[in-house]
Order: sequence, then structure tokens, then C-alpha cells
Amino acid sequence: MRRTPKFEDCFAELIRLPTVSSIDPAHDLSNRGVIDALANWCDALGFTCEIIPVSDNPEKCNLIAKRGGDQSDSNSNAGLVLSGHTDTVPYDLSGWDTDPFTLTKKNDCYYGLGTADMKSFFPIILEALERLADTKFSNPITIVATADEESTMSGARLIQEQNKVAGRYCIIGEPTGLKPIYAHKGIIIEEIKILGRSGHSSDPNLGNSALEGMHDVISTLRAWRDDLQTEFINGDFQIPVPTMNFGRIHGGDSPNRICASCELSLDLRMLPGMNLEELNEKLRDKVRETLVASGLKVEFNAMFDGVPPMQTSRNSEIITLSEQLTNNASETVAFGTEGPFYNDMGIETVILGPGDIDVAHQPNEYLQINRIEPMINILSKLLNHFCGPK
Ligand SMILES: [Zn+2]
Repeated sequence: MRRTPKFEDCFAELIRLPTVSSIDPAHDLSNRGVIDALANWCDALGFTCEIIPVSDNPEKCNLIAKRGGDQSDSNSNAGLVLSGHTDTVPYDLSGWDTDPFTLTKKNDCYYGLGTADMKSFFPIILEALERLADTKFSNPITIVATADEESTMSGARLIQEQNKVAGRYCIIGEPTGLKPIYAHKGIIIEEIKILGRSGHSSDPNLGNSALEGMHDVISTLRAWRDDLQTEFINGDFQIPVPTMNFGRIHGGDSPNRICASCELSLDLRMLPGMNLEELNEKLRDKVRETLVASGLKVEFNAMFDGVPPMQTSRNSEIITLSEQLTNNASETVAFGTEGPFYNDMGIETVILGPGDIDVAHQPNEYLQINRIEPMINILSKLLNHFCGPK
């Protein structure tokens, strides 16, 4: 007998509940509805559920649901973790042909906000477990649902910090078109603000130009970028070197005034093997050194804590088995995930899910219906392989 609602009903319920996360408080919403629904369903399937607020705000939570194996042994490194984020990006209603919060079946696809990225993963997990109802699992199964992946990754950071999740392997069902992903780059987004002194343009001694200071900083960073791109090359990536994009600059207000303030935002993407914290420190040191004799002040404003690069060994069993089950060689992707946080905990992780990244973060996001059965199958086989009867 089924213990959770039908696949389509679970999916529709998760899509119906808005869980936008954004660093802009005007768009940021709770994920509690989705967490509570998942906890109820996991509970019905015999899981022990823990709902954990990720901050002082009880409306932003992670769910950790565990079943099977020896739960008293928190250091057990056996078993499989099935992980996904509950939040979506903000949406632009004017671009949608259907209601983003109504799961709509059309053209052999399910439309709705989060269908591909990545609410669909949860009803797929439930469906696989329903079908395996008679299996006596010997190793633990852990379902993790996180908050705020699309904004700060605070949910995954807390999972790592609290160390309550154990397992040998992890699968994260981000949209990869059913291809196993073993690596991605890391991301730093930094804002550099230089503060000088304004003055009449006719006499340079009257002020100190922040804009000229920024010019020097950009020259330094471009030279450093050249060095990084010579030192670090990884042919597994489509863009095989670290990148640094100067995406936004703003400074000054008038040609006849010395520029008192200039801001630059940049996006630095590092390869696996490059350390995010060290790189961020180096970046700041380079900027400070450049300005040291100028009398200009500098402030740094990280928009968020960055995403570390991820790399799971291609020889890891979670990767080789995923390759076999999907009939696809493992690949790298250009987007960041929660994977590196699990890898850091010693839980070897594959990113593998049914959606397509091309339709994620877009109006009319959809999931192709013919991806669902294969994904349920892949999960069932992974569960049997890693957790099934001895
Ligand atoms: Zn995602």
C-alpha cells in the first residue's frame, strides 16, 4: 500500500509552495512549507526527521531524514545521501505562459517554477522508495533538503558545520540532463570600493582620484589573471582556465571633479585544486599592495561567501556506477552546487538529475516527462547497490 501521495500530487504540492530565495530581502521567501511537506512524507516512509533552522529565522530550514542502518553510529560512513535544495530563484511573471506555481502538463513536459531546478528530485526519491517498500536496507539512507542554495548556500554550509549527515556517497539531483557530473568550478563574487577625495579638476593636489586608483587595481588584477591562467589549466573544463570577469564599475560624477569613490564588482571562477579562501585573501592583498602608496582607502564587500570548486574522483564508485546506469561518461559543468560541501565531509558526491540546466532560472521552466522513469530507475539501483540487503 502506498504511504505517500501519488508522484504527480507530491510534485504539484512542492511547485505550489513558493520558496524563492534571494539575497534581495524584497524577493526572499520562507522554504518552510516545502520542508514540512517533505518531512510528513519522509515520516510516512519510516524516516526519522529533523527540521533545523539555518539561521535566527525559523522560516528557513534544512530537513535531515534518516532511515535504516545503525543510526546510533554517527560516524558510520556507509550508506547513501540523497540531497536537493528546496528553494528556487525569483521569477518574472511576464515571461511565463502558465502559472509558475501550478504544475502544468503540456507537450510531454511538466511546467512550473522549480520543475527542473530541482523540486522534481524529491517526488522521484519518494517514488523510488515506495517501489522499494519491501527491501530490507542494510545501510542508512539519508534524505537532505536544504534552504537557500540559490542565494547564500547557508543550508549546505550548516549541513557541513553541524556534521549530522553521514554516508559513503551522495547524489544531488540538480539539472544535468541525466549525465553524471564529477566536477565544477568555484566562484568568488567580490566588490572592491576605493575611497579617495574629491576636489576641483583644475588642481590634482586638491583631491585623490579613486578612479585612477581603480585603474591601477584593474591592471594588477589582469596581470594576476594572466599568471593564474598560465599556472592552472584543466582540460576537463570547456573553459580550461580560471576566469576573472570585471562585470560592473561605477565611479565619479563629473569630468571637472576629482573622483572620490569608485566601485568594481568582479566574478572569479577557480578550478578544482584552487583554494577559495586563499584566493580571496590573495585578491585582497593584491589590491591593498597596489594602493599602498596612494593614500586611497579600500573596502571589500563579498556579496556572499562563495562556492568552492568541486571534484570527485572519476574512479569513485558513485561516479563509475552512475556512468554505467546512465550510459553517459561523467562530465564537468559551469555552475556551482552544494557538492563541494559533501565532498569536504568525506561523502563522495555525484551531481545527477533529470532536468536541463538550459531551462533552469528561466520563464517557462520545465521537466521532460520522459526523464522521470529513468531517474527513478537510476535512484532505485543506486539505493539497492549502496544500501540494499547484504
Ligand atoms: Zn539548483
